[in-house]
Amino acid sequence: MEKNILIVEDSPTMRSSVSFCLRNAGYRVAEAIDGKDALKKLQSMNDKSEPLSLIITDINMPQMDGITFISEVKETDFKFVPILVLTTESEESVIKKGRDAGASGWLLKPFQPEQLLWAVKKVIWTK
Ligand SMILES: [Mg+2]
Repeated sequence: MEKNILIVEDSPTMRSSVSFCLRNAGYRVAEAIDGKDALKKLQSMNDKSEPLSLIITDINMPQMDGITFISEVKETDFKFVPILVLTTESEESVIKKGRDAGASGWLLKPFQPEQLLWAVKKVIWTK
């Protein structure tokens, strides 16, 4: 069965390269441009029968950053969906904030496609 993944990323270039990589590997992908947009998209997914397998989010985004977004997701019906962070942010304190908010994994940009796919598989299978 196809797995659905939501990508939350403000950079159009990064968003399409992540999306391309995942679609190529057989995943079904939805895109959001920041945390606020993503929460709206999640709301509209509520009634659909196809479950969301994973959320991949950036940290630095306008309107709503990734850390706030992760905390918000944990207040919704999607609280058990694993969240993988894909960011340039490598500072220990930020990573800790992400983990405390509920992130399942942390990947640094620029990403290698194989590395991203491996992380995605691992997070989806071990949730
Ligand atoms: Mg960004």
